[in-house]
Amino acid sequence: MDDCIAAVSTAPAAGGVAIIRISGANALSVAERVFFPSGKTAVKNFRPRYMYSGRIAAADGIEDFGLCVYFRAPHSFTGEDVAELHCHGGVELSRAVLKAVVRAGARPAKAGEFTMRAFINGKISLSAAEGMADMISGESAAEVRAGSLLYSGRLTRRAREIQAGLTDVLAKIGADIDYPEEDIERAELPDIGRTLLGLKASVDALASSYECGKKIKNGVSVAICGKPNAGKSSLLNALLGYDKAIVSPSAGTTRDVVEGAVELGGVKFNLCDTAGVRRARGQIEKLGIERAEMAVRSADLALIVYEGAFGAEERRLLAECSCPVIKVRNKRDVNDASDGCEDISVSALTGEGLDGLRALMRERALPEGSADGAFLIEERHYNALARASAALGSAAASAGSLPADILSVDIREAWDALGEITGETAGEEIINTIFSKFCVGK
Ligand code: GDP
Repeated sequence: MDDCIAAVSTAPAAGGVAIIRISGANALSVAERVFFPSGKTAVKNFRPRYMYSGRIAAADGIEDFGLCVYFRAPHSFTGEDVAELHCHGGVELSRAVLKAVVRAGARPAKAGEFTMRAFINGKISLSAAEGMADMISGESAAEVRAGSLLYSGRLTRRAREIQAGLTDVLAKIGADIDYPEEDIERAELPDIGRTLLGLKASVDALASSYECGKKIKNGVSVAICGKPNAGKSSLLNALLGYDKAIVSPSAGTTRDVVEGAVELGGVKFNLCDTAGVRRARGQIEKLGIERAEMAVRSADLALIVYEGAFGAEERRLLAECSCPVIKVRNKRDVNDASDGCEDISVSALTGEGLDGLRALMRERALPEGSADGAFLIEERHYNALARASAALGSAAASAGSLPADILSVDIREAWDALGEITGETAGEEIINTIFSKFCVGK
C-alpha cells in the first residue's frame, strides 16, 4: 500500500469546487509537483491541516487557481499521508488536474480504495464503512440517518460489547478445560447457560430491528389495489405528484404494475398501481393481473381503493393481503357519504384527504419513531446476527450437558459471526464486495 492513489472525490458535474484526493506515503511530494503556493510560502513549509492558496498546474496546458491541504499520517481519512487539491468544479478541469497528479507519481484509485485503506489502517470499522456508503447512496432522510448512525460506530460498539461477553465466557470455560480437577465446570455451567441466553437476547434485539430497517433501506412497498375505475392510477399520480400512470375513463387500462417512489415523513415508499381486479379478457391483461396479485402478496402495505361501498371484490382482496391494509374510499368530491368501512375518504381528483392518507400510510407501515435511524439496515449484518443467535442458542441449550471444549466451538462461532460486522473476521471476498459498492474517489 505504499503506492500513492488519486481520484476526483467530488461528483463529476459542473459545480463550485472539485476535490482531487491523493493518498499514500508520497502524497505531499506528488501535490508539490502540481501545486505552487502564492506569496512567500515555501512548499517545504507546508503545515498539516492548513489550507494554502496557489496555482494548480493541470495537464493539457490548463492552469487553475485553488487550494491545497495536507494531512499527515495517521491523522487523515485513510490513515496515510493525504493531500487534497481544491480546484474549480469543472468536469474537464478536474480531470486535467487528476491527469497532472497521475503524471506526478500517483496512480488512479479504484472504487472505494480510499475507504478500504481507512479500514485496513484501522481508521474505521467495516460496518462504519458500510454506513458511509448508505449515507452517500441514501434516497430518503431515514436511510441517511440510519447510515449515519452506522457510520458513527453504534453497531460496531454493540457487537464488540457482546463479543466481550463471549470472551469472558470463553475464559471461564478455558479455566474449566485447563483445571478440570477443580470442578469449576459443574458449579458454573448453569450460570454460563444464563449468560449465553442474555447475550443471545442482545443479539436478537439488534437483529429484530432489521424488519423495520429493511423497509427504510429498500422503501416500503405499497400495493394500490381495487376494482377497475376505482381511481387507483389517479391516486398513484396524486401521491407521486406527477402523471406516471395512465388515467383513463375506460375500465382496465392499467394493465401492469406501475411503480414510482415518494418520500413520506422521511421514509421512501415504493408505490405500485396494480391492474384492475376483475375477470381478465386479454392475455396481456391477464399477465398484469397475475403480477398485481403478486404485488399484493409481497407488499408491506396495501391500499384498497374503492368508490361507493366496500363490496365483495374488496373483501376478497382484503383476505388476500397479509400486510397492513388501508381502506381508501375515493371520489369523495362526488359522493361524501360514508359506508362505515373506510379508514379514510379522499378525492384523488381534488386532493382532499390526501394529507391524512399520507400520515396514515406512514403510521401503518412503520412503528412510531422508526425514522430515528436506530436500525439495522444491511442484510449482511442481519445474516451475521442470525448466525450468532443460532450458535448462542445451541451453546446455551447444551451448557449443562456438553463438555466445555465442545461448548466453546459454538461460542467461537457466535464470536466470529459478530466479527463479520466489526470486520475482524470478514473474509477478503466480503471486504472486496463491500468496497466495490463505493464510487471512485471515496
Ligand atoms: P383505475 O382504473 O382504478 O386506475 O382508475 P383511474 O385512476 O383510471 O380512474 C378512473 C376514472 O375515475 C377516471 O376518469 C378518473 O378521472 C376518475 N377519478 C379518479 N379519481 C377520482 C376522484 O377522486 N373523483 C372523481 N370525480 N373522479 C375520479
